[in-house]
Amino acid sequence: MFNPQSTKEPLPPKPVEAMPHTLAGMTFNEWRQKKQKSHKWRNIRWSVVIGLSVLFILSFALDLSILEGSLSGSRLLGFYLIDPYNSLQMLAISSTTGYIVHLTMNFWIGLGTIVLFYAIMGGRTYCSWVCPYHLLAEWTDKMRDLLVRKYKWKDHTFHRSIRYVFWIGFILVAFFTKNLVFEDVNMVGILSRTMIYGPGLILLWVLGVILFEVLYSKRFWCRYVCPLGTTMGMIGSVAPLSIKFEHDKCGYCRDCQTVCLVPHVLWFVQRGKATQAVHYTGQDCTRCGLCVDSCPGGALSYSFKGIDKLT
Ligand code: SF4
Ligand code: SF4
Repeated sequence: MFNPQSTKEPLPPKPVEAMPHTLAGMTFNEWRQKKQKSHKWRNIRWSVVIGLSVLFILSFALDLSILEGSLSGSRLLGFYLIDPYNSLQMLAISSTTGYIVHLTMNFWIGLGTIVLFYAIMGGRTYCSWVCPYHLLAEWTDKMRDLLVRKYKWKDHTFHRSIRYVFWIGFILVAFFTKNLVFEDVNMVGILSRTMIYGPGLILLWVLGVILFEVLYSKRFWCRYVCPLGTTMGMIGSVAPLSIKFEHDKCGYCRDCQTVCLVPHVLWFVQRGKATQAVHYTGQDCTRCGLCVDSCPGGALSYSFKGIDKLT
């Protein structure tokens, strides 16, 4: 779960005759630059995130039974959906109060539906295709990138395992306080409720986290804190929907790792690292498609493992 890298012997790096730019009769730079700037998957994804928020807002404002509630707990056409980390906290609390046997069938159906869906589609797909904070952070990343480019601003990284400390920590806090404490600081819930029911002072907390990310550590919340994202990663650890990498089409430019927010999942794109002709990204991949859009060789694509690529 912690280290996605293969322990197999790496394949030998491709000789220059087998590189995609040579096969295309170009220099490496010509091949790399021939790729038209594409934002296909990014645009589709942003439309989905915004569209979901609009559905929540319209359902509330016009009293429609389309997508009611918020991202912490909702009803889609009357069908319950529940945030799985929220559910874990509720289970921790109810195990101390004896209320666990009284949890409703809607609770179990809502949880089961979400778990099943993301176990197939990839748990962290939720992060880039549903979460409004991910979208906000993508936009504020532009500020950070400007600081890095102009002033050589330094990024501060941490060990990825600290997210498991937060994951366990918030469950323990719920258990001992009998309160859903994480929900008070949860970016997903705060932003979702703000859009539907209106803003409050809690937005200062969101602003503080964004400033911290822009000035000190890129995507700190998503990478190291958010226990919902960690839960989603666990749920989707063996998901069939993934990003497929084909070694023969790769030119080792690593443009994909530059745009990826979790570049360790693309470890196999480095010269001399791939251990097989085809690799799939691991559980931290959010299936955002930025790497698919950026690859000059078309070496990356959405795919259902065992079937074939989808794009
Ligand atoms: S997979 Fe990554 S490193 Fe390989 S060609 Fe595509 S963008 Fe470059
Ligand atoms: S590997 Fe590709 S799809 Fe996965 S998170 Fe990175 S850029 Fe997004």
